[in-house]
Amino acid sequence: MSKSHSGRVALVTGAGRGIGRAIAKKLAELDAKVILVDRDDPGETAALIGPTATSLQADVSRDEEWARIAALADTTFGRCDIVVNNAGIYPTARIEDLTVEVWRQTLAVNLDAHFFSARHLVPLMRRNGWGRFVNISSSSIGTPLPGNSHYMASKMGVIGFVRGLANDVAEFGITVNAVLPTIVQTPGTRDAPPEFAESVWRQQAIKRFSEPNDLVGPIAFLTSEDAHFITGQALPVDGGLYKVG
Ligand code: NAD
Repeated sequence: MSKSHSGRVALVTGAGRGIGRAIAKKLAELDAKVILVDRDDPGETAALIGPTATSLQADVSRDEEWARIAALADTTFGRCDIVVNNAGIYPTARIEDLTVEVWRQTLAVNLDAHFFSARHLVPLMRRNGWGRFVNISSSSIGTPLPGNSHYMASKMGVIGFVRGLANDVAEFGITVNAVLPTIVQTPGTRDAPPEFAESVWRQQAIKRFSEPNDLVGPIAFLTSEDAHFITGQALPVDGGLYKVG
């Protein structure tokens, strides 16, 4: 097993299940020390990884929670090298039913959190002149799904923020990229009707329902030393679904 991430401290949000769990597990396998952040107790993921994992229950949509997250990384490890902003929500609501509360909550979890993570963790990365942000967007920004306007706005916003932040932090050795999954089999999509998932994955070149493990290789690469000249990019990891741009 490669030890490409030895000496790194990697923070993964939404690590309690789904895609976040798979990413955290992979980074730990590559020898990073992982900090698992989730609104719910990420204990099951921690148990899969073992004693090198540190768990923290926090709501990433709140700036003050990020102060607590950064303080934990600093006091426990004295550093934070990698942040994967994966926590996200996708409540479906057509525009006539979309409430202000759902709009704001979706933007807060899916986008505000990415800003807060940079606000609180860029200073730690700057100390070592090295850092990696990978922020999870979605290929659904290029495919028409009903009841998703708020979600698509948040996930488009992720790409805009990634491009802007990449410029601001490049001089400190920090890269910032977005990854765009297709529809993925996770607890979050478990209750969607199978024909809905199939209507998406049938549009991919690789015609199958994606799994969390499809994402981990590209994220391992983007958070590695080898990816030092890739920044401000939006990488679809979606079996060939995304056809825009
Ligand atoms: P999931 O619902 O299975 O898991 C999400 C995790 O995030 C949960 O553990 C949840 O507790 C945590 N979380 C939610 N809100 C939080 C908050 N405010 N603070 C801290 N933790 C919070 O989701 P998933 O399917 O694994 O999706 C992960 C990411 O991938 C999301 O950003 C999602 O938008 C994106 N994505 C998912 C799919 C898909 O089909 N599953 C497709 C494209 C993009």
